[in-house]
Order: sequence, then C-alpha cells, then structure tokens
Amino acid sequence: MEDLHFETLAIRSQSERSQFGEHSTPLYLTSSFVFDDAEDMRASFAEEKEKNLYSRFTNPNTTEFVNKMVTMEHAEAGYAFATGMAAVFSTFGALLNAGDHIVSCRSVFGSTHTLFTKYLPKWQIETSYFNVSELDKIESLIQANTKILYAETPTNPGVDLLDLELLGRLAKKHNLLLVIDNCFATPYLQNPIDFGADLVIHSATKLIDGQGRVLGGVVVGKKALVKEIYLFSRNTGPAMSPFNAWVLSKSLETLAIRVEKHCENALKVAEFLETQAQVNFVRYPFLISHPQYKIAKKQMKLGGSIVAFELAGGLSAGRQFLNALKLCSLSANLGDTRSIVTHPASTTHSKLAEADRLEVKITDGLVRVSVGLEHVSDIIADLKQALATIKVQAKKQ
Ligand SMILES: *Cc1c(COP(=O)(O)O)cnc(C)c1O
Repeated sequence: MEDLHFETLAIRSQSERSQFGEHSTPLYLTSSFVFDDAEDMRASFAEEKEKNLYSRFTNPNTTEFVNKMVTMEHAEAGYAFATGMAAVFSTFGALLNAGDHIVSCRSVFGSTHTLFTKYLPKWQIETSYFNVSELDKIESLIQANTKILYAETPTNPGVDLLDLELLGRLAKKHNLLLVIDNCFATPYLQNPIDFGADLVIHSATKLIDGQGRVLGGVVVGKKALVKEIYLFSRNTGPAMSPFNAWVLSKSLETLAIRVEKHCENALKVAEFLETQAQVNFVRYPFLISHPQYKIAKKQMKLGGSIVAFELAGGLSAGRQFLNALKLCSLSANLGDTRSIVTHPASTTHSKLAEADRLEVKITDGLVRVSVGLEHVSDIIADLKQALATIKVQAKKQ
C-alpha cells in the first residue's frame, strides 16, 4: 500500500476483517480480550505477541485510527487519547523529569499554556517563551536542561506561521525533541516530521472529526518516544474510547475532501474581508498579504480553515459584530462543518491583562473565523451584513 495516495490510504487502510466479512469496520465495544490458553496469555502480556489485552492499552478501533494517523504524518508509531489535552499532557508526563526545561512559542492553545504556567512547575518543569516574531531569540532561551522545543503553526488565534524547517534545524543542533501541535493544519496540509519534528500532536476534536461530534487526541512520531508515551498512558488511563476511534477513523476517510473545501471557502472569505472598510487587516496563510506567505507556501499545501481579522473599533465593535451574526455560530470549537466566529479579547482571552494579550497578538478588535462547509456565498453574506452594522467611520490603515 506504500505507493498509494493520501486519500486512498485514508479510505483503504482498515483493521482486519472478521469472519462476517463486513465491508465497513465494526465497532469493537469490548473492555478486554480473551486468550486461547495460559501460554497465549503469558506471551501476550510479555509483549512477545502483538495482541490486544485491554482497551486502556489498545483496541482494534483505536489501532485502526492510530495507524491511519501514523501513515498520514509520515511517522513510525502513535497512540490515541481521549482528548487533545490528554495527548499534550501525556507527552510531557512521559518524556520529562523534574528539573527539565521546555522552550515554547508563547502563542499556544490556552490549556497548553496553563499546563506550562500552573501544572508543570509543580514537578519543577519550567518553560521559557519566544514570540512568533522572534524565532531568532530561541537559541538564547535554550539551557543545559532544555529537553523539548514546542510550537503550533498556524498559531491560534492570530494565524501567524512558524518556520518548521528552522525549528527542525534548531532542535537538531541543540539535541532537543521538537514537538509540534499540528491541529490547525491537519496532516493533509502539513507534515512537521518532514521538517524534523520528533513528535506531532493533534486534537482530533477539531478538523479530524470535522463535524463537532466527539473529542479525541493523538500523538505520532518516533517509535522509541511513542513507546514511552504509550507505557505512561497505559498506566495512567487517558486512552481514547473505541467508539470515538471508530467515529474518527471514518472521519479520516473524508479528511482530504473536507479540508480541501474548508480551504477553498476560507480563502474566499479572507479575500472578501480584505476589501471591507471596517477591517484593518486580515491574516490567512495563503493571502499574498500574509507577512509569512513564503513560509506558508513552503510548508503548507493550502491555507487552512482559520481566518483572523482585526475590526476597526476594538472591543465594542467585536461584540457588536458577534451579536449581529445570523448564520455563523458563536462557539468555542473550530474545524467544524459549521462556520464559527469568536472574539478572543472578550471571551477566551478576556482574563489576560492587555499587555499579555498583545504579546500573543490578540488586539481588542481581533476576530477568528473557523470557516465551515456551508455555501461560501452564505458565509460571506452573513459576515457582510454583520460588518454593515458596525458604525465606525473606519479608514483602512
Ligand atoms: C483544541 C486544541 C487542543 C486541545 O484539544 P482538546 O481535544 O480540546 O483537548 C490542543 N491544541 C490545539 C491547537 C487545539 O486547537
């Protein structure tokens, strides 16, 4: 199957058929598995045989999902989690010791940031941060005890890009593990392992499910590292449920075609927003105006589903805009078939001081659109009528 394309592998890789000859993979709702005899059981527990023992360790549905993700990300091995955050936490839990140090981009998912600032310090694991515009500062942050270089690209919610090739080079030079949260791009658009990442993390809750139904997470990458993460997880219990794995494996069959359409719609939305008087600027990786357009072209196949823009008029304009939307949902998810709009300054990031918000480039008027799969004319019409309610005499800056 090696020479088959992404779409074909996503559809045609599946777990072994049962004696019933089913076409579509069945759901294996079983917490444990049986053995032929005492010797079979002994050998299985001794890991001399690759057998399912207990669904906290492995299950045919989670294995099918993981194997697809491993193939899509050009990885060696993987393990699936109940949520994206379980994947992030278990990676740190398995690979770090007290006294270790992380260098991370400051623009990371909110709960990941909370792990860095509130929980990992309980185990004497400290984190130093670089801003998206200061990759040249990374080397000065590396210490003798630094183990992990951590980043997300494109970033949330600012849609800035980090040069994966550069991060890969730095990690190699300083013997660090490069861990990339590839949730925004999906394996269809970007494969960090090709640029030197050791591990890639996904919240499968987002575009991998893509329909706003189930939570999930996955880590894929180097075999020896994944083995550590697997052993940590099989003993601490953050495993993905077989049901969610079954849903997510089905979702991967349509990942390429869905993401392709998300990107087509998002680019049109971004181009529309750029023409609007109430909008100061638009950030979308495949807009020529994106300051890192060249990096986008180098490491991404298409621009993704997330568009960020800044409304002239700040906080009140942001709230006004959200209130005026009729079609787009106000919700915390992203990567759904339904378009979702958020205003970080008044919601997800409202507890941050203004200076801290600005460090991660969240200005008062910043709006994030997760562009869905509705007809793009309907999405644009909704954004347009909501923009029209904003009574600022805005001039493009
Ligand atoms: C949502 C998200 C996560 C966390 O995933 P959950 O499945 O919600 O736990 C981590 N990283 C990024 C970039 C995300 O968008």
